Amino acid sequence: MSALPPYSVRVSSRAKRLQMKVLPPGKVQVVVPKHCSLKHVPAFVAEHRQWMQFHLDKMAAAYTEQSLLPESVCFQAVDESWQVDYVDQPHYRVIEFAPGRLQLSGPDTSRACQALQWWLQQRAKRLLPGWLAQVSAELGLGFNRVTVRGQKTRWGSCSAQKNINLNRALLFVSPGAVRYLMIHELCHTRHLNHSPSFWALVADKMPEYEIYETELRQALSIIPAWAQPGFGG
Ligand SMILES: [Zn+2]
Repeated sequence: MSALPPYSVRVSSRAKRLQMKVLPPGKVQVVVPKHCSLKHVPAFVAEHRQWMQFHLDKMAAAYTEQSLLPESVCFQAVDESWQVDYVDQPHYRVIEFAPGRLQLSGPDTSRACQALQWWLQQRAKRLLPGWLAQVSAELGLGFNRVTVRGQKTRWGSCSAQKNINLNRALLFVSPGAVRYLMIHELCHTRHLNHSPSFWALVADKMPEYEIYETELRQALSIIPAWAQPGFGG
């Protein structure tokens, strides 16, 4: 059997039994109850080494993902790009401190992704609903309410109550694709299905829609990792 990975030992007066912890950025600690002999520790570690390795690998992967914090953010939909400066500070914060310049601060980069996602959400909420209202007025297809959300698998949806939901990641696709998605959802206010009449209405409103349909089908995979819902813990 190979040597055990390094670990530290902490004696605790509160612990009731031997415990193993994997702490960031990848350290193993064994907590030993005050009245338990230290001679049991190596056997305990050996017994739990698979569990330990699993969690060490998981933590290592999480730390690799942190390096995916972007140097810049490009919103193709609105022709906007932001340079991201990362500042090590005790509080998480995103500041638009100059046109096209973003300052992202926080004590660790993994949770900084969440701050950046919050900013993406604000940005999308500022840009997408007004755009939808414009397309709606232009087409003469009304809707009730609009919400903007982070979703993993859908670009948008429309309910029977004509409430439209838009994926905030639409900011990453082309303006034509955003317009198509909006037209698609607005056409669902007439046809709540993907019937031939639905597609005929879409084609009537946007004859070249198929290229954007293709773009959107492929685009969920090009959303940057930091912007994926659930990323960054
Ligand atoms: Zn649809």
